[in-house]
Amino acid sequence: LFVSFEGVDGVGKTTQVERLRAYLQERGRAVLVTREPGGTPLGTALRQLLLYNVASDAADIAPRAEALIFAADRAQHVAETIRPALERGEVVITDRYLDSSLAYQAGGRELTAAEIRNLSMWATDSLLPKRTYLLDMDPAASHARLQHAEDRMESAGNDFQHRTRQAFLDLATAEPDRFRVIDANQSINDVWEQIRTDIDTLLQG
Ligand code: C5P
Ligand code: MG
Repeated sequence: LFVSFEGVDGVGKTTQVERLRAYLQERGRAVLVTREPGGTPLGTALRQLLLYNVASDAADIAPRAEALIFAADRAQHVAETIRPALERGEVVITDRYLDSSLAYQAGGRELTAAEIRNLSMWATDSLLPKRTYLLDMDPAASHARLQHAEDRMESAGNDFQHRTRQAFLDLATAEPDRFRVIDANQSINDVWEQIRTDIDTLLQG
């Protein structure tokens, strides 16, 4: 079973990922928790490039270069981490996957969704999650929750974050079988309750 969590920064993805991990482990399932960007050693290096521009004095990575680095991170992630775990029969839970690229690299910036989708499907050899939980809330509210210092993307501005949120919602509308949209303004427990109910049906089916 392959599950992804998506949503703008600060909506509580990481908290829910950990809840789900604990819940499944209590039920005796082998679970692999991972994230993008940065789910492999190569990915960790790419994450530094993407979020902190460590390789360049220039202010910006060109949009196509950025999309390719995220795709390289994802290709390595699938080949090295996700596919082997699925083949071992583990449940794989990832904090972000290709929908983040569709929302951020296409929704927020100037590349088209079709371009990014083709790139992502090539990078992953067409591996899609069985279920994607979109934790949805107003980016102005979620941004206020962030505890740590901002990275390059998180400070990209309100307008960008709003376009990204809308892009996520449009993706969910286009693929209602894969997505579950959850109102992330609810308490942690209420968000979790919705995920748990859905996971129980998935595991039975
Ligand atoms: O969720 P996490 O904090 O690990 O994501 C790192 C940053 O990368 C976030 O600020 C997110 O907005 C950005 N990101 C992105 N495109 C992706 C994945 C993440 O811009 N495909
Ligand atoms: Mg972040």
